[in-house]
Amino acid sequence: MTHDPTCIFCKIGQGQIPAKKVYEDDDLVAFHDISPKAPMHLLIVPKQHLVSLQQADESHQALLGKMLVLAPKLAAENGSPDGFRTIINTGRVGGQEVYHLHVHLLGGPSPVGRML
Ligand code: AMP
Ligand code: ZN
Repeated sequence: MTHDPTCIFCKIGQGQIPAKKVYEDDDLVAFHDISPKAPMHLLIVPKQHLVSLQQADESHQALLGKMLVLAPKLAAENGSPDGFRTIINTGRVGGQEVYHLHVHLLGGPSPVGRML
């Protein structure tokens, strides 16, 4: 599994810097966003360093599926049982800030803001 020693999400995945984790297995970690945009704002992150969805290929299919299948489980466990929004910002045009792939999982008791 490849890691980037300068990458903040690799460091969280390897337990080198703290995060409010809600889930962890061999492939994924999920934790609270440090600057929440909704009552529930989690990030689902692969432990391997994958820069963005732009770099994903067939070898990442199972990992990407696992990330999405985890979303409803985490939403239900973290105060958003009636739905949620998932967002993946990709690259410069997508407004990505942290260049390690992550799925934003946003929700709470009432509808969250939307762009689309
Ligand atoms: P993006 O713009 O999609 O790359 O989003 C990056 C997200 O990572 C932002 O919502 C940040 O608030 C969040 N973030 C950055 N550093 C940390 C950290 N150390 N722990 C938790 N969330 C973080
Ligand atoms: Zn990384």
